[in-house]
Amino acid sequence: MLIKRKIKTMRRAIISSTKLIMFTILSILLLAACGEQKTNKVAAVGAAEPIKTYQWKMVTSWPKNFPGLGIGPETFAKYVDEMSAGRLTVQVYGAGELVPGFEVFDAVSQGTVQMGHSGAYYWKGKIPASVIFGAIPFGMTTSEFNAWLQYGGGLALWQELYKPFGIVPMAGGSSGAQFAGWFKKEINSIADLKGLKMRIPGLGGEVMKRAGALPVTLTGGEIFSSLQSGAIDASEWVGPYNDLAFGFHQAAQYYYSSVWHETGTSLEFLINEKALASLPKDLQKIVEVAARAVNQDMHDEYNARNHVALKTLIEKHNVQLRKLPDDVLQELKKYTEQVLAEQVENDQGFAKVWQSYSEFLSSIREYNDLTLKEYFQHR
Ligand code: CA
Repeated sequence: MLIKRKIKTMRRAIISSTKLIMFTILSILLLAACGEQKTNKVAAVGAAEPIKTYQWKMVTSWPKNFPGLGIGPETFAKYVDEMSAGRLTVQVYGAGELVPGFEVFDAVSQGTVQMGHSGAYYWKGKIPASVIFGAIPFGMTTSEFNAWLQYGGGLALWQELYKPFGIVPMAGGSSGAQFAGWFKKEINSIADLKGLKMRIPGLGGEVMKRAGALPVTLTGGEIFSSLQSGAIDASEWVGPYNDLAFGFHQAAQYYYSSVWHETGTSLEFLINEKALASLPKDLQKIVEVAARAVNQDMHDEYNARNHVALKTLIEKHNVQLRKLPDDVLQELKKYTEQVLAEQVENDQGFAKVWQSYSEFLSSIREYNDLTLKEYFQHR
């Protein structure tokens, strides 16, 4: 009797645990089926709607694939294509292919193209403060400038400046600090600048004018022949990597390494505001992230190639390397302060951006003097 009852209880226990196991298995199967159904549903929707793709055009102020400057836009197009798996493609055009190099801003503003790659100081006739986002004599270094842009309020001011033109600006690479340039005669005093015909654009040119020089603006492609023919006595361009590519050492003997007029030259991506807004959010982010990556990448490339190119210029081409005398640099700095004070007085937009820029510079300079400047002397 007792044994029978025990067997009955055991049977009941087995049946109920089998039920539980079956229920669990059923639940798992049901859940799995639901999950599968969900995935199928997503796949079905994806298959029903073809993936939307976007084809953009980017005009630039440089010859197509020009070392450094012209590589940035190509790298951007490559990054965007890869990150978006081909949903956004960007066709890059060299200066003059679709629009002249100095009409990049207008082409983007009018929506003729979706994007441009250029230098902000080219638009100083339209927007005086734009030079601050290109190059300022005795200004910030590239890493200081990027710090100001991203974490010191600089980018918001830049966006505000281009907003009336329907353009969203983003930093587009940096050549780093530029050389004072190529001179046919040595510069031993400020008097040697008097009457000197020099290719030097932007505020640097304005400063040179105060020092008695005759600044001219020429495109990169015009510099070599003008130096060779004697139409100009001196020219700045970028630095060893780019200057070697143009062969300036065949037209002028003295190469001045002193950094003063373009201390951390920054380039820019110009993006048509409506074109950007028409992209889905993920593609907008890809554009932003690709621009930041190119901004860093270009600076890395200049840092890697400049010092190698300088060795080639000196050892292979017998270039005479020189520095501007301290008193010449002090005079140029004095004139720079005058030029900047006038810009602040003449243009409210310039004054607003300059206040932010100069406050950031004076603070970060103290810190960098304390750390990097000190370190450079001891390593
Ligand atoms: Ca330059």
